[in-house]
Amino acid sequence: MKKIHLEPSSTFSSLYLHFPFCETKCHYCDFYSLAASRTQEKDKDRFAQALKNEVILWLDSISSLETIFLGGGTPSMTAPSTIEWIFESLLKENKIHETTEWNMEVNPSSVDIKSLTHLGKLGVNRISMGVQSMNPVELKILGRVHDPKQVHSALESIIKSGIPEISVDVICGVPGQTLQSLEKTLKVLTKYPITHLSCYLLTLPSHHRMAKDLPNDDTQLEHLLFINDFLQNIGFEHYEISNFCRNSKKAQHNMNYWKGKSYLGLGPSAHSYDPRTQTRWKNYSSIHRYADFIEKNEFPIEWTEALTPSQVELEKWLLALRLNEGFPYAWLEKKAQKQKAEQFLRENLLEIHPDDSNRLRPTPRGYALNDLLIQSLST
Ligand code: SF4
Repeated sequence: MKKIHLEPSSTFSSLYLHFPFCETKCHYCDFYSLAASRTQEKDKDRFAQALKNEVILWLDSISSLETIFLGGGTPSMTAPSTIEWIFESLLKENKIHETTEWNMEVNPSSVDIKSLTHLGKLGVNRISMGVQSMNPVELKILGRVHDPKQVHSALESIIKSGIPEISVDVICGVPGQTLQSLEKTLKVLTKYPITHLSCYLLTLPSHHRMAKDLPNDDTQLEHLLFINDFLQNIGFEHYEISNFCRNSKKAQHNMNYWKGKSYLGLGPSAHSYDPRTQTRWKNYSSIHRYADFIEKNEFPIEWTEALTPSQVELEKWLLALRLNEGFPYAWLEKKAQKQKAEQFLRENLLEIHPDDSNRLRPTPRGYALNDLLIQSLST
């Protein structure tokens, strides 16, 4: 059995649960998820039992929860009564509170008012919906199963259910996508009372059949800057490289990742991190392998990794350059780092933080050219 080196005081207040089932497999997806055509009811039951037992295996290391994230896959394909059953031990031990941010990912084609109302009563207070685009052609290119009409009706159901926070995911850099279609997607979605929008640039491995159709670097940059301007002009804060919020409603669970804090990931393929021991580990990416271990009362861990000092230093920069909080000037210890930062300030890739002149942060252009900043400043 794989051992994880945990301090006796190592407890987790951020929990991720991975639900690996989807209606179909989207063309660009590299998450561990299985299409409905490849799954049987007995696999789903075996998974649910294993996940419930994995929660129990870890129960003593789970403290009062600040955030919970149900991701996948498509967690909304699992019945709310099954989710409630999986959470039984956490609910019984009062690990979930009114202040816990409890987020669940849903797809427009797999939510209805009845299940949302049930989830809201259970404690789910944030929905993150994979919309990706409001253009039917782009949705087809991406291999999504829903259409724009289903997005409208899903958003109306979420609002009606009373779940207070709504986040939507959008994809840019889709082959053939224009600024006009991007603008339409953003306009339609931001008319709803959403509090948060994530916008990811489509990236594909070079051997992917669609890789040759991706827009070039200049077009990608143009699209990223357009999204930033559009959302900032209507009151969204660009607080992380791919994330925007209204009324300061940042995604607390993800902020936890980006601040390098601890998190416990349960379910197949889930990752965990304990900064006290600087250790990361990952569960097996197979529901059956995963369940085999849990059924023997063992942790289903595929690998663990103790970060080296240079990995810790690189992570420090990777995380700081994602956030609009930026980093303290004092981090620029070497002459070469200082020179690079001065150059980036001149090139409008970095700026002095408006609320703290001792900090630097990426500009919208700097976010778009983030790899260059990381490469230059982390060495
Ligand atoms: S819905 Fe999400 S997890 Fe499922 S296949 Fe599509 S991108 Fe992947």
